[in-house]
Amino acid sequence: MTAHHPFDLSGKVAVVTGANTGIGQGIALALAQAGADIALVTRSDASETAKLVEQTGSRSLVVRADLGTIEPCQRIVDEVVAGLGGLDILVNNAGIIRRNDATEFTEQDWDAVVDTNLKVLFFLSQAAGKHMISAGGGSIINIASMLTFQGGIRVASYTASKSGVGGLTKLLANEWAGKNITVNAIAPGYIATNNTAALQADEARNRQILERIPAGRWGDPSDLGGAAVFLASDAARYVQGHILAVDGGWLAR
Ligand code: NAP
Repeated sequence: MTAHHPFDLSGKVAVVTGANTGIGQGIALALAQAGADIALVTRSDASETAKLVEQTGSRSLVVRADLGTIEPCQRIVDEVVAGLGGLDILVNNAGIIRRNDATEFTEQDWDAVVDTNLKVLFFLSQAAGKHMISAGGGSIINIASMLTFQGGIRVASYTASKSGVGGLTKLLANEWAGKNITVNAIAPGYIATNNTAALQADEARNRQILERIPAGRWGDPSDLGGAAVFLASDAARYVQGHILAVDGGWLAR
């Protein structure tokens, strides 16, 4: 008999939202490499991520959903439980950003970002949390941001939403820690994805960002994998309400 490895996710089912690309794809792959079966919640084609997951030997299930409203939240949980036999890990990764001066910021850009990044994150956690409570436990990992800690500039709704994600992570940990559910967050630094394509393409901003990152490079989606596996695993069973920065040292500067 082999001893159970505390980072082993074999036999667990993980849901990753926005898993078709970027950080969601990196985290889905890392969780699969640790042994979890993965439900990819996506509004776009996720066949690339599904293939990468299956190459690790884990199962994948694609759940199509637009996370602009809370309407699909309960259906996502039901489809995952029916398709993969459970739901042990939820990674709330899907998110958007809109940029404009505070004086010009529109209600539309406020609502779109806060709805996806904060409101849907909460109601999907609620639906998954109810299942986890009745199943005896689980792990929720929210994707926060440097703007959970800092103010940023020209991204009012994003800063509001990601600051809110930090608060909700702690609230849910307080309510559910006693029910064997860990609730934590990962705060990525500057990671090269579609979300930051405009910054990477702007030569001056790109240089300023690189100069400020102690690691001296943009992060890659794969850099988030270890943190996600840890927070999803038994190794983190007494870690609650924590926001783990994976930022190449940005916050330490
Ligand atoms: P990305 O490549 O733009 O990925 C965002 C993901 O969210 C995509 O899968 C996207 O789907 C999905 N999504 C957005 N709105 C959706 C909706 N209404 N319904 C379903 N899916 C939706 O960016 P990323 O950098 O990987 O971002 C992932 C998370 O990390 C976000 O929460 C972001 O705020 C956070 N983050 C990123 C950075 C960074 O430096 N990149 C730093 C801190 C935090 P589509 O492909 O269909 O649009």
